[in-house]
Amino acid sequence: MSTQEQRGYKPKRTSGYASTQTRETPKTPSKAPERPSKAPQRPSIIPIGAFALLLTIVALLIWLGLSPGGEEQVVPIQDTVPPQNALAASDIADAVEEEDSRDESTDEEPKTPLVDEAQYPYYYEEQLAGRYEAFAAAHPEIPLDDVYWMVGCDLDSPPYENVQPVSDPHSILALVNKHYYLPQDFQPQSIVRVSNCSMRQEAATMMQEMIGAAASEGINIWVDEAHRGFPRQEYLYQSYISRDGQAMADTYSARPGFSEHHLGLAADMVLLNDNFNNTPEAIWIANNCWKFGYIVRYTGENTHITQYKPESWHVRYIGVEASQTMRENGILSFEEYWVKYIKYSPRG
Ligand SMILES: [Zn+2]
Repeated sequence: MSTQEQRGYKPKRTSGYASTQTRETPKTPSKAPERPSKAPQRPSIIPIGAFALLLTIVALLIWLGLSPGGEEQVVPIQDTVPPQNALAASDIADAVEEEDSRDESTDEEPKTPLVDEAQYPYYYEEQLAGRYEAFAAAHPEIPLDDVYWMVGCDLDSPPYENVQPVSDPHSILALVNKHYYLPQDFQPQSIVRVSNCSMRQEAATMMQEMIGAAASEGINIWVDEAHRGFPRQEYLYQSYISRDGQAMADTYSARPGFSEHHLGLAADMVLLNDNFNNTPEAIWIANNCWKFGYIVRYTGENTHITQYKPESWHVRYIGVEASQTMRENGILSFEEYWVKYIKYSPRG
């Protein structure tokens, strides 16, 4: 936050000093030639003049019977100071004063990291300013840039609170998570069979390509489960609750309506459990699925965003353009991609 404040104020400081200099600069060339001739004379003129004046004043004082005062003696010396220097000195004093008052105001407002408009990213929204500030205050460990996009997809609310319907559920890039749900009657379009499971046509085609590419490298992968309707998700979720309790079940199973599996764009590969982690198959998928438009949706790096524990077997189809963009830009969660490239566009 402090670096941003400094960045914000620096230009003002620089221009403050610059204006002081420009005021001095034009005067220097015209006065400059006088200085060499005047400068050597000062040592002789000033003491002699002052000494003569002092003698006169002392004589007068003695004559008037008064004790000597110091101020009159200083006057001639002050007159020898070039006026432009006096002006510059006062300007500098003013500039320092201004700077001091700025520093004070900076110290008084440490809670306003969002004040410098030049620093706003394109996904900043004026109407969310209060939520940015509240979320940043509650989570000082989260970088400000992350605060903007996280609030942009409602991650400032706890999971399953203030939930909203998915705005474009038939899009390949629909975001479904613990904040965005699908309507109960949602049915994905153009569902086809792949590995005895169902997926949307485009996702199925790319899945087949990925399975083929893995096979050509000696890696045997398949789809264990893909599209799921609401009743199936309800059954799974309830059975997990009775086994592990709801708090635990929520870390690995979505509530009905909040599962990506409803989209027909998500697939669980090979083995739907932790034993799949770090297998050659899981490692191959993590390294290569982006080439086929897939992402490993829940990783150790985005648990704080997704609120799911890592699932090396769960992949989500988002299309090659999106998976490539995420990879090239080091975007670690689909939530971040969705805010930065779907809800808002870097191209304006
Ligand atoms: Zn899954």
